[in-house]
Amino acid sequence: MLDAVVVGGGPVGLFTGALLAHQGLDVQVLEQRTEPIRHSRAIGIHPPALEAFDGVGIARAIVSEGTRIRHGLLRSDGRTFGSLGFDGVSAAHPYIVALDQHRTEALIAARLEQLRPGSLRRGVQVRGLEQEADHVRLQVATGHGGSGLNARMVIGADGGNSLVRSACRIDVRTTVHGDQYLMGDFIDETPDGRAAVIWLEPQGVVESFPLPHGRRRWVVRLQSPVTDPTPELLSGLIQARTGTAVAASGNRMLSGFGVRTQTAGRMVAGRVVLVGDAAHQVSPIGGQGMNLGWLDAAALAPLLPDAANGSGEAKALDRFQGRRMRSAAIAARVAQLNMAMGRPVDGYRLRGRDLLLRALLTAGPRAALARAYSMRWL
Ligand SMILES: Cc1cc2nc3c(=O)[nH]c(=O)nc-3n(C[C@H](O)[C@H](O)[C@H](O)COP(=O)(O)OP(=O)(O)OC[C@H]3O[C@@H](n4cnc5c(N)ncnc54)[C@H](O)[C@@H]3O)c2cc1C
Repeated sequence: MLDAVVVGGGPVGLFTGALLAHQGLDVQVLEQRTEPIRHSRAIGIHPPALEAFDGVGIARAIVSEGTRIRHGLLRSDGRTFGSLGFDGVSAAHPYIVALDQHRTEALIAARLEQLRPGSLRRGVQVRGLEQEADHVRLQVATGHGGSGLNARMVIGADGGNSLVRSACRIDVRTTVHGDQYLMGDFIDETPDGRAAVIWLEPQGVVESFPLPHGRRRWVVRLQSPVTDPTPELLSGLIQARTGTAVAASGNRMLSGFGVRTQTAGRMVAGRVVLVGDAAHQVSPIGGQGMNLGWLDAAALAPLLPDAANGSGEAKALDRFQGRRMRSAAIAARVAQLNMAMGRPVDGYRLRGRDLLLRALLTAGPRAALARAYSMRWL
């Protein structure tokens, strides 16, 4: 009988495993993939997540391998009309770290291995689960066949199409947004150094973020979906909207994506708790989804030992659920605002948007904006 099984070894499941192992729980993280995916995907790591990483000895490795973004610049029509600094958002980590998702996962997995060797089991797929009075029985499949596994608590960190969620018959509300984006990592030849830069242009937003090893992530909102994207198409769109030349030959990753928002009806069902994308998926525009999942894990971990042995206060998990669902709702609204700001506009709407942004970038609102973008209130 294990204390806890975490289903899913993505960024959120790995961190949940590390937190529980750090508390001395007998935990296993089950990941269906035999090998990690080598994709840069989610890159932004925010101060509250870094502070949670400090608690288990992960932050230092992430900060030293990543790129520290201390401020962002807002541009339009060839001019910089505002900047947002993260100085005041955290005493320990006054910056957002940019690091490729597969490297972040590798560093968390390495710490998990130190804390409880062998607890990450790759190539193990959870096929179903049943709740008993004092434990959960899981059906798992490996390359060698199926078997069963018992745990006091199960944490579903198995992503947007969560099997754990459907096995617990938890309903989910999904909204598909029309917005389409193309993103790519390129060799960075801009003069922007470690600044994040957002161009709000009439044809749609262009975002760029520095990455380690002299690369920069570019994200462009498309005016219509593209079936077969190329680096040349992306660099052409960047040049046309911002005037910045980005060599297509320096492309290192290219991917198009649409946006869906998804919210589970609840996060807690008996001895099963959902965290991360299994519980809530928000738009990648704003880069907060993975961090939101880490903060779920940080809020859940202290409650787990008592919940596992049945001595926990009955309402503790309900309060956890209420707080985390409120945070997810705020993050979803911030992401929707980001998407709205980046949609194509013209005429009086363009002038109205620029006036609003200038007002938001004055001293008082600017501090609040920096807190929102660095997830300080989530
Ligand atoms: C283009 C893009 C850019 C993004 N950028 C950012 C960003 O900068 N910052 C940010 O915070 N977020 C970002 N996000 C969101 C972020 O990627 C997700 O929120 C994050 O990956 C969710 O992590 P997770 O561990 O909850 O789920 P996942 O990453 O989906 O991991 C779930 C894991 O569970 C495994 N699994 C599933 N089912 C089973 C099963 N039955 N048995 C065993 N294993 C199973 C899967 O193989 C997978 O490894 C971005 C997303 C996209 C698409």
